[in-house]
Amino acid sequence: MYHLFIVSTFSANSANHEATMITLTRRQALMALSAMTASLAGANASLTQGSGTKANRARKDSVLIIGAGISGLAAARMLSDAGHTVTVLEARDRIGGRIWTERAWSDAPIDLGASWIHGVNQNPVAKLAQEMGIKTTVFDAGTLMSSHDVTLYDQAGMPLSATALKQLDEDIDAVQALVWEMLEDAPRSLSAEEAFNSALKTLGIDGERGRDVLEDASRMVQDDDGADLAHLAAWGLDEGTGFDGHEVVFPEGYLQIPERLAQGIDIRLNQVVSEIQYDETAVKITTGQGTFSADKVIVTLSLGVLKHGNVRFTPALPARKQQAIERLGMGVYDKLFLRFPKVFWDDTNIISWQSDQNGAWANWFNLARVTHVPILCSLYGAGVARRIEGMSDVEAVHEAMKVLRTIYGPDIPEPAAYRRTCWASDPYARGSYSYPAVGSSTKDRSALADSIADRLHFAGEATSIEMSGTVHGALLSGWREARNILG
Ligand SMILES: Cc1cc2nc3c(=O)[nH]c(=O)nc-3n(C[C@H](O)[C@H](O)[C@H](O)COP(=O)(O)OP(=O)(O)OC[C@H]3O[C@@H](n4cnc5c(N)ncnc54)[C@H](O)[C@@H]3O)c2cc1C
Repeated sequence: MYHLFIVSTFSANSANHEATMITLTRRQALMALSAMTASLAGANASLTQGSGTKANRARKDSVLIIGAGISGLAAARMLSDAGHTVTVLEARDRIGGRIWTERAWSDAPIDLGASWIHGVNQNPVAKLAQEMGIKTTVFDAGTLMSSHDVTLYDQAGMPLSATALKQLDEDIDAVQALVWEMLEDAPRSLSAEEAFNSALKTLGIDGERGRDVLEDASRMVQDDDGADLAHLAAWGLDEGTGFDGHEVVFPEGYLQIPERLAQGIDIRLNQVVSEIQYDETAVKITTGQGTFSADKVIVTLSLGVLKHGNVRFTPALPARKQQAIERLGMGVYDKLFLRFPKVFWDDTNIISWQSDQNGAWANWFNLARVTHVPILCSLYGAGVARRIEGMSDVEAVHEAMKVLRTIYGPDIPEPAAYRRTCWASDPYARGSYSYPAVGSSTKDRSALADSIADRLHFAGEATSIEMSGTVHGALLSGWREARNILG
């Protein structure tokens, strides 16, 4: 085995000057060294910040990647390993994007963005984790209310009776079967809410039973799409595909994957891209700190950032792509972590409350099972998440605690610490993941993924037709665009 120290010598940011050590076989070490030599030679010849564009044009296939999220890093890794000159421009002072492990609680890293590998069988993220020797732990979440390892409480905070649970399961199964039948011919204009209401009407399920079925559907959609039932296209309930097998999480944090992919890559942090200019010969990127030129660019900006429009494309993007950006939706999914002095809750993966507030504080994940520290995490999406983002931390924690007291009584302790996310308000994400909004179609995802003149490439979760909204979808989209460039 060989230990290879990689020192990034031409990064603009001191964070990238750190030496990192990786263990390689002799063959891997020789290949890495030759790739690095080619990469450094190319970088010195062709990638300059500022006005040195003449030299830039002399070099073939230098690639700028906008965004150091999983898709950008996956593309960077593949291109760099193939000997291309790659520079990643990242707005934040950290890598990972929507993968964000916070290590402020030293005994319990918490994932503020993605947590799960959804289905480990054949999943490329699971394969990477295994190859990299990163530890994962099984934590099946399923579809929340209908997941196995869940304790369910009714609105009054009483455990759901076996009879009520059986009724709910039967109603959900019957309604979902009917909704899924409708999806085949569902027009683009049909919302998921209309589909569910129509199925409830056909089956004659109304009153409290109807409300409970809608509540379950609403949570499923908040979780999968970050969207409200009224905004999600009915056909979108069946969009894409996934992987089988257990769901797993990372006890030491998801960020380990981006961190490993990033080793030895030239990543410039704190570079907020404001303009992307392109023509038949080159691309020029303007950031708050200067300009960068290269032969090609891979844009991995989230759909939310593209929608917001504060990164200008010159010339403007083709109409087809602009329409796709408008039509697809950007969902929101947030987390509130509460750290307590001791565990007072049920020993199941999930504690679920039949909220009367459209999913607010309905799902509590028992992170004590993963971290061995008394932490509960509430996950909530769509309109509820946007409402909660408008609150102060104190108000949000107060509202959440009211629900926990409804379930576990007035004597439970106050949280010793908390942490919450606000992904909709985050200027470099503007949401959590994309979803098929009413009026959109799968063609919009391919329009978003289309490259322009083999010069301007697009990757990121929203460009994945089959696996949008996931880490694996984003990863595969990065590899897809790297392969397109590699030909
Ligand atoms: C709360 C939450 C929970 C999730 N849970 C899961 C889960 O359990 N499992 C799962 O598979 N997926 C999950 N996801 C989805 C998953 O995190 C994303 O699909 C994936 O990480 C997206 O990667 P990406 O590379 O497409 O985009 P990003 O990670 O967003 O990368 C884009 C990068 O571009 C940068 N950027 C933005 N604007 C600029 C600019 N102007 N200039 C330069 N750089 C810029 C951003 O800072 C970011 O680093 C979750 C997401 C969230 C938010």
